[in-house]
Amino acid sequence: MASLRVLILRARESAEYRGHSLARFTHNRKTQAYAYCETGCGMGAFVDTKPAPNGIDISGRAVAVNCPNREVTHAETPRTVRVVMESEVYGADTFGPYDSPEEAAQAIDRLKESAAALKDGVERRYTVEDAE
Ligand SMILES: [Zn+2]
Repeated sequence: MASLRVLILRARESAEYRGHSLARFTHNRKTQAYAYCETGCGMGAFVDTKPAPNGIDISGRAVAVNCPNREVTHAETPRTVRVVMESEVYGADTFGPYDSPEEAAQAIDRLKESAAALKDGVERRYTVEDAE
């Protein structure tokens, strides 16, 4: 089961891939949080560490539909890559896919910022690998 923090990071990454810019996540309960896009497109992302049997842990239109208020330009012939974030405490988590190593590098910068904001003292390693 992924932690709420990891789900929020993943939701933020997916939404940014779609051109959205999610505001701070609001926590519903200890297991749920949500955030809406700051461009005012009305779309949001919802995360749940304990989804219903048929449910999913990350949902919402912001992770599925491109932001109508921001132009999304992805490379025509992408080399799709993933970012793997590893730590002793939380194990390995993958993010992406991204359309280029450059986008992955930007994602790592964002992940490092988000991870630093957690102030949990956990050391994380980031690697880029080809997505299948
Ligand atoms: Zn949006």
